[in-house]
Amino acid sequence: MRHCCTAMTRHLAHECQAHPDPYDCPDALAGFSAKFAEYGLIIHDGSRASSTIAYCPWCGARLPASQRDRWFDELERAGIDPWRDKVPPEFEDGRWMQGVSGDGWRRCGRLAVEWERLPSRPTSA
Ligand SMILES: [Zn+2]
Ligand SMILES: [Zn+2]
Repeated sequence: MRHCCTAMTRHLAHECQAHPDPYDCPDALAGFSAKFAEYGLIIHDGSRASSTIAYCPWCGARLPASQRDRWFDELERAGIDPWRDKVPPEFEDGRWMQGVSGDGWRRCGRLAVEWERLPSRPTSA
């Protein structure tokens, strides 16, 4: 999927040899959760915290609304309790939105950095 500007795209694509986990890297500023269609700024306080943002800090564009609430609604509709049951793989990334009517997230693609998966990505170092 396309992001609002090249700065955002570059920050989301940030990869660091020294820090495979972006939460450990002081240069990693932004993250995108494909699962929730949510943009966030990484808070480097030693925990795995991030702050959801509604506007791009670089170009000022309004970012698409987080689909976090809808994620829980859709799981509930499917009879799945995310705290107790196994979450289907299509709910682990943006695929679940393709079956959900509504805004542009229907077109959600695979190009975005999938935030949740970054920590487990093997390093080439
Ligand atoms: Zn780093
Ligand atoms: Zn931007």
